[in-house]
Amino acid sequence: MTIHQNLIAGEWVGSDAIRNINPSNTDDVVGEYARASVEDTKAAIAAAKAAFPAWSRSGILERHAILRKTADEILARKDELGRLLSREEGKTLAEGIGETVRAGQIFDFFAGECLRLAGEVLPSVRPNIGVEITREPVGVVGIITPWNFPIAIPAWKIAPALCYGNTVVFKPAELVPGCSWAIVDILVRAGLPKGVLNLVMGKGSVVGQTMLDSPDVHAITFTGSTGTGKRVASASVEHNRKYQLEMGGKNPFVVLDDADLTVAVEAAVNSAFFSTGQRCTASSRVIVTEGIHDRFVAAVGERLKSVVVDDALKAGTHIGPVVDESQLKQDTDYIEIGRQEGAKLAFGGELLKRDTPGFYLAPALFTEATNDMRISREEIFGPVAAVIRVKDYEEALAVANHTPFGLSSGIATTSLKHATHFKRNAEAGMVMVNLPTAGVDFHVPFGGRKGSSHGSREQGRYANEFYTTVKTAYTLA
Ligand code: ADP
Repeated sequence: MTIHQNLIAGEWVGSDAIRNINPSNTDDVVGEYARASVEDTKAAIAAAKAAFPAWSRSGILERHAILRKTADEILARKDELGRLLSREEGKTLAEGIGETVRAGQIFDFFAGECLRLAGEVLPSVRPNIGVEITREPVGVVGIITPWNFPIAIPAWKIAPALCYGNTVVFKPAELVPGCSWAIVDILVRAGLPKGVLNLVMGKGSVVGQTMLDSPDVHAITFTGSTGTGKRVASASVEHNRKYQLEMGGKNPFVVLDDADLTVAVEAAVNSAFFSTGQRCTASSRVIVTEGIHDRFVAAVGERLKSVVVDDALKAGTHIGPVVDESQLKQDTDYIEIGRQEGAKLAFGGELLKRDTPGFYLAPALFTEATNDMRISREEIFGPVAAVIRVKDYEEALAVANHTPFGLSSGIATTSLKHATHFKRNAEAGMVMVNLPTAGVDFHVPFGGRKGSSHGSREQGRYANEFYTTVKTAYTLA
């Protein structure tokens, strides 16, 4: 099997490889991917540093053309790349192709943004002086990504970094290097100069840590666990570098008595279980007012009967496997914790046997949960959700906000009054009315509050806040 190598200073290098395994069928090896060493990572950082002066001054048409070509190739190859994604991560083929299309759209969006770089011209408060406010690239950007969105998250970090003139050292998650390798290959063939984008696959404790420890990495954008996010933060404070963190969530989905039951059930099942619950925007706390509670729980149970958990690549599968053995253990441990805490496991939660060896888990729904149980406080990151019964809207809002996290918050209601109040008062970066907590657009800001996020928003035009630094220039005319 050929090794997919790292890209350092424009050269494909590396012979120490690990196997990328399909979680739907652990006998299926997706490919061999090189592992970077500390020295490789240092060389990648040095290459990005050396490439920065020229790339930061490159013409906007050059950047536009490269990002545009990349978008075109990703979109043209959506079926093949979507399949690779589903094979390495385990989300369904429809989800894999959908995520790939989104990655293409993100490159397309930032190709356009290159042509819209703008500043401001203001008069000074002093006579005969003009003030120009411009945005400049930050320098070498370190990009560290998780396994759950193998192509979209790399895209929404790499595209703006390059668009605004930064150079990049990119470390994808060890479990899913395939899509990352593919988009780096596409960008290089689209004409990216040597050293502008460097790919260093491998371990967080080796590659990631070397990036955190380097004074030559000027900004780090990270999506992953809260624990690693804290390490990124403290190392970044040490080096006085810019950093952006997207971490966990414990997103609430509120269902009020006046909700449209079909809308509420679809949105709750999607939020909790699609993509195997492995989305930071997934909802694992379903907060339901007492007038609709029993009808809602029964309807979710009915709906779950038609949900097919199977091989991600099979037609008809709605939910693929859990990503790997250690995540599966975490999910089943939490199911046990929920039981011991006194919640009732109303549906699912059992391991499933399918034609191929994989990490199959039936979506688990707890009822009679309270908001102070560990299953309601801690991020599980699997197809496990808990229903919390509340008296009325006011209690629902209080429970929804009573969490250390604040990424996404959803509500099902037909009341304009409650929808409006919830939009204003949900302590989250994103609010969804009659929609799942997950599933966002690519052209508008993404991010959260409280323990979920740190720094400015990702995606859309708001991305420029992270990937640029502002300069204010005064001229005596
Ligand atoms: P998850 O539980 O989702 O795997 P992690 O925070 O462990 O979350 O992983 C997210 C990303 O952070 C991965 O690319 C991982 O390799 C990387 N990572 C893990 N440990 C470190 C570290 N000490 N320094 C930098 N990056 C790390």
